[in-house]
Amino acid sequence: MSDKPLLIAHRGACGYLPEHTLEAKAMAYAMGADFLEQDVVATRDDRLVVLHDIHIDSVTNVVEQFPSRARADGRYYARDFDLAELKRLNVHERRATDGISAVYPGRFPTNTGRFSVSTLEEEIELVQGLNRSTGENVGIYPEVKSPAWHHAEGIDVSRQLLRVLANYGYTEPTDPIFVQCFDYDELQRIREQHGCKLRLLQLIAEDSWNESNNNYADMRTSAGLKKVSGVADGIGPWVEHLYACQAIDGQPVSSGLVNVAHENGLQVHPYTFRTDELGTGFDNYAEMVNWFVDELAIDGLFTDFPDVTRRLLE
Ligand code: CA
Repeated sequence: MSDKPLLIAHRGACGYLPEHTLEAKAMAYAMGADFLEQDVVATRDDRLVVLHDIHIDSVTNVVEQFPSRARADGRYYARDFDLAELKRLNVHERRATDGISAVYPGRFPTNTGRFSVSTLEEEIELVQGLNRSTGENVGIYPEVKSPAWHHAEGIDVSRQLLRVLANYGYTEPTDPIFVQCFDYDELQRIREQHGCKLRLLQLIAEDSWNESNNNYADMRTSAGLKKVSGVADGIGPWVEHLYACQAIDGQPVSSGLVNVAHENGLQVHPYTFRTDELGTGFDNYAEMVNWFVDELAIDGLFTDFPDVTRRLLE
């Protein structure tokens, strides 16, 4: 659909610096990203902060700082802390569930650095400030995280997100922004109840990931995508939804999902392109990116490594 695919920095340049820190965002900006991603969750005092999960124990030192504040399930939730408390935490490279080992061992060390949680406003001001000082027009790509869970917690994150976005001038479909969500019902609410005119992207998961109660196998059919196209401008599928490897020679073959999405007028922005975690069947990163761009004609991609990816797209 578009000529050159949009380069979306997934949680910033998180292949190099702890995810969702302003440092990782500035680095991604400097590496030539077209859009910077923000995952958005709510604090106890109803502020929006940029964090990937409703839990904060995998990427901060909350267990040391506030040992008694876990819920019954043993997890620590952003929603249980005021912004001022979250600001006291140190953010670190993502650790596995053992609390010690790195999810991506080759990345930034998990036990060093001084980074903090940032609000959505702080991040937008970074992007808009850089746009002014560089003359570029880099966009933002916020995701409403776990909307059903947030509603049960008594907060409408989407409404608050749209209010913040409007304050910073994001109101029109031509503005440099996409709003993304895994939950179709929430995207429909954003479009129809909130009257949002921004470009929207329906993320597509595997049902087993429990991202929402949507049936994603149905969503990936022609009828499912037609329904999505009534609300959204694009889809964000998992890379593995877009191809399969042939039994005979192991070569990747299109699943047809990109074509069906394009037939329904939907852009396709798959996630996640990582040099240290390749898609099934690909031997190196360049081969993977080139195949998705040349064979599938994707319209954008989420990557942890904006620099390498930018060079491949040029
Ligand atoms: Ca995300």
